[in-house]
Amino acid sequence: MPQPPQLIDPFARAITYLRVSVTDRCDLRCFYCMSEHMTFLPKKELLTLEELDRLCSAFVSMGVQKLRITGGEPLVRKGIMNFFDAMSRHLATGALKELTLTTNATQLAKFAQPLWDSGVRRVNVSLDTLDEANFADITRWGKFQQVMDGIDAADKVGMKVKINAVALKGTNDHEVHNMVRWCGERGFDLTFIEVMPMGDMGELDRLDQYWSLKDVRKTLEQEWTLSDIPLNTGGPATYVQVAETGGRIGFITPLTHNFCESCNRVRLTCTGQLYMCLGQEDDADLRQVLRTNPDDDRPLYQAIENAIARKPKGHDFDYSRQTVVGQVSRHMSHTGG
Ligand code: SAM
Ligand code: SF4
Repeated sequence: MPQPPQLIDPFARAITYLRVSVTDRCDLRCFYCMSEHMTFLPKKELLTLEELDRLCSAFVSMGVQKLRITGGEPLVRKGIMNFFDAMSRHLATGALKELTLTTNATQLAKFAQPLWDSGVRRVNVSLDTLDEANFADITRWGKFQQVMDGIDAADKVGMKVKINAVALKGTNDHEVHNMVRWCGERGFDLTFIEVMPMGDMGELDRLDQYWSLKDVRKTLEQEWTLSDIPLNTGGPATYVQVAETGGRIGFITPLTHNFCESCNRVRLTCTGQLYMCLGQEDDADLRQVLRTNPDDDRPLYQAIENAIARKPKGHDFDYSRQTVVGQVSRHMSHTGG
């Protein structure tokens, strides 16, 4: 069979990065991400691990070099290590350059070593606070020590750990200096993320939670000497170096800075919908293509190519007029953060 086409979108951006949500379930209920009583999808809606393998392998053969596994919480998906182990064959051929994950770290103490063995060298851990009580409030029932044990285990096996913190007005604004200090001491990069208008959160008002990263940076500069560094990861973060700790801080600002021109990524949900842009509703149903063509990948390649041809130039999120514009109805845990 001829080589499948490589993925280039209409704006000449090569699509080399796939983020895959492997489950919508999670063992935590971070208040900005999920409501307390979430209804999860019936299991049969989810792609099986074999289907996930088939899909990800198709993307790798079409030029995807980086796979980030996310969720929900990826490490609560039953049998997930089989999937990581299967993906390591693409690392072995060199087609895949990086296999990584975003996790809340609750299960990382158990999985750090097997993940390392399957080729995972870096992990993004989402952690919004270093205060045990605040952690329990934000996550609704999370156990802080369990997460610390997970982070320690990842560090110990040699993984590079990056901490992602959502900047939340009135919730963790008083902790940012402590987080910079702790990350500096541990040798972890730290990234702040602006809260995004994903999913209906009931009575919660997004604008109440929203803390602009411009303001976060101003707050940090009261205590730390920050200098811009030209680190281009092809993603939406800009980076600074902290003179006092030698550590790096990233700012992911989908709402105050438009980073779409360098976008190299697409997202696959746990039900096989491909989203060409995090901030747009347009998707392509790849599960349907998979299930109607169990023995032939050509229709799958075609469907992926057609979807990439619809990748939009950018997203529509905008808070600038003090209202939430461009809200998308799905939750982050469905699309994968
Ligand atoms: N459960 C894993 C974790 O927490 O790392 C992976 C999935 S989680 C949806 C991925 C990332 O999305 C986390 O860093 C989380 O803080 C972030 N996130 C969730 N809801 C968000 C929102 N509304 N705005 C911005 N970031 C959000
Ligand atoms: Fe779970 Fe991650 Fe969402 Fe928190 S942010 S509820 S850990 S999926």
